[in-house]
Amino acid sequence: MQVNSKLPNVGITIFTKMSKMANDYGAINLSQGFPDFEVAPELIERVSHYMKAGFNQYPPMLGVLPLREAIASKVEKSYGRATDMNEVMVTCGAIEAIFNTISAFVHRDQEVIIMDPAYDAYEVIINLQGARAIGVPLSPKDYSIQWDLVKKAITPKTSMIIINSPHNPSGAIISKEDLKLLEEITRDTDILVLSDEVYEHIVFDGKEHQSILKSDELRERSVATFSFGKTFHATGWRMGYLIAPPHLMNEMSKIHQYNTFTIHAPTQYALADYLQDPAHYEGISGMYQEKRDFFLKVMANSKFKPVLSSGTYFQLMNYAEVSDLPDVEMAEWLTKEVGVAAIPTSIFYQDKQDNKVLRFCFAKNEETLKAAADKLTRL
Ligand code: GLN
Repeated sequence: MQVNSKLPNVGITIFTKMSKMANDYGAINLSQGFPDFEVAPELIERVSHYMKAGFNQYPPMLGVLPLREAIASKVEKSYGRATDMNEVMVTCGAIEAIFNTISAFVHRDQEVIIMDPAYDAYEVIINLQGARAIGVPLSPKDYSIQWDLVKKAITPKTSMIIINSPHNPSGAIISKEDLKLLEEITRDTDILVLSDEVYEHIVFDGKEHQSILKSDELRERSVATFSFGKTFHATGWRMGYLIAPPHLMNEMSKIHQYNTFTIHAPTQYALADYLQDPAHYEGISGMYQEKRDFFLKVMANSKFKPVLSSGTYFQLMNYAEVSDLPDVEMAEWLTKEVGVAAIPTSIFYQDKQDNKVLRFCFAKNEETLKAAADKLTRL
């Protein structure tokens, strides 16, 4: 039979591809973004506790009440705005939150403005709706948003703008001024905003994460998506959530209830307990800043030139002094011949432009980072 693909140009993700190659060649894996250190034993104990205590049947569709309450008060504490648990949906990783948001609101033939480079998932999910992703280039200098270009990209077909701060892959973060400009651009329109904030707790150098939730005006038209996988080093648990006002939540519930319906109950109860102590998430930036600084220190004598990372657990490195291979080939060569896997950043661009920049994940133990740097500094 002939399969009529809805996504004929989509293959396996670069993250899966590079992690597999790292495994196949025994390379140190700094490609796909995941930590090589463990989840807190206390949190694991809580999951196991709730499984043994019999919390093993369908939880409520939007999430268990203690977790939705805990998330609402965490948002209130972090971003200084009253938040009700009815604005919270617990999802299967942030990716389900992103999927639900785009599928709920983007219609066939509409346009969604994304920043270029962008996380690879957005465009695929937009295309699945029969809609088009319009990439607006981030500043090549510092990956900041060029709002004049965003404004020019808006047409009567624009349904949504997707922002992502701290930004994957660059590590750039938005400022208060960015939120002001986004308010101005969307004011008196029906444009929705999807704000992907999965690295909200990984921001460096005393800077502050500017959540869309800090703007009362933007909140009315926005869905913000978050990740427990990123914050609690548990990417395999697939636990995320979104925050949205009731009029948007109503539409997204329709997708969620026929998509995953509801999320792993014992883990939800465990997270509700674990969130009671803000130190569990407030200390993350410091821990990751140490790792970023350690990685930069051990790479200082290499020919790889770092680009400032203000957030996320990624560090971009320009390798133009090491090789003139295109970045996809360079990533493959490094994995096979040098023994370090990284992500080529061209895959994040709509036109796959090659800037000789690789993305390294530093969510690793110091020994792992040191071993990788030893190999890279020899080049
Ligand atoms: N978000 C992770 C990254 O950027 C990858 C997630 C995935 O493998 N799909 O590396």
